[in-house]
Amino acid sequence: MRETDLIDRIRRLAGHSPLIRGIGDDCAILRPRLNEDLVFTSDFALEGRHFTLKTHTAADIGHLALARSLSDIAAMGAEPVFCMVSLAMPRNFAVQRFFKSLLTLAREYEMTLAGGDLSRFDKVVADVICCGRVPRGKAMLRSSAKPGDLIYVTGKLGKPRHRPQPRVAAGLTLRRLGVKAAMDLSDGLSLDLARLCRESNAGAELSFIPIARGVTLDQALHGGEDYELLFTASPKLKIPKSLATEIGRITRFRKILLDGRPLAPKGFDHFA
Ligand SMILES: [Mg+2]
Repeated sequence: MRETDLIDRIRRLAGHSPLIRGIGDDCAILRPRLNEDLVFTSDFALEGRHFTLKTHTAADIGHLALARSLSDIAAMGAEPVFCMVSLAMPRNFAVQRFFKSLLTLAREYEMTLAGGDLSRFDKVVADVICCGRVPRGKAMLRSSAKPGDLIYVTGKLGKPRHRPQPRVAAGLTLRRLGVKAAMDLSDGLSLDLARLCRESNAGAELSFIPIARGVTLDQALHGGEDYELLFTASPKLKIPKSLATEIGRITRFRKILLDGRPLAPKGFDHFA
């Protein structure tokens, strides 16, 4: 199949669009609404790093590639608007299955595919850019945690899945409840919490870790690829138990403690 035919097929799969211009021109055009901020993120999904062709189908990879980016949109408390997908792949890769699966996930959030790039390469490399919208000034930030805030996580930790479900709905609910500080867990609680504390100039005392069935405490603390939300909120804010588990408290001392003992950040650091 020629590239133009493939793009036509992908375009038909992409369907309805809130954009002024989507696939087919040199750039996509989006006209922002008044009183909103647009948030952007870009994430790689790399063969050999995030998946292998032995363990993941093309459909798994399409889902995972978008889920990684959507998880960042969820972390800001934003509503997904569009994504752009750049994909390099070997000749025998099931590219249409990749896009079908990616677009199935996109449609769950009424999100459109606005463009991207396709290329041949000897490995599968996907880069997904997502754009989301949030009421002006209301995005949840890593830097907004305050000493005295309670710390929460959604879901249970330590068990990565082939098709993670990004916590977009939880992110929207938290932002509407008035949560100011959040991030998604992609590299493990210990490392991601250290990042949140660093941005907020604070520390943390952890007292409880919700561990997924069949994994160890170490995996739950340092495992990575959870795609759950980590957030903090003033004790005055009522966070429904069905939404998240309280795991500790933000402190003014720039240290992270678990049951009174220092917790070293050991999650996945790509450059360590
Ligand atoms: Mg993130």
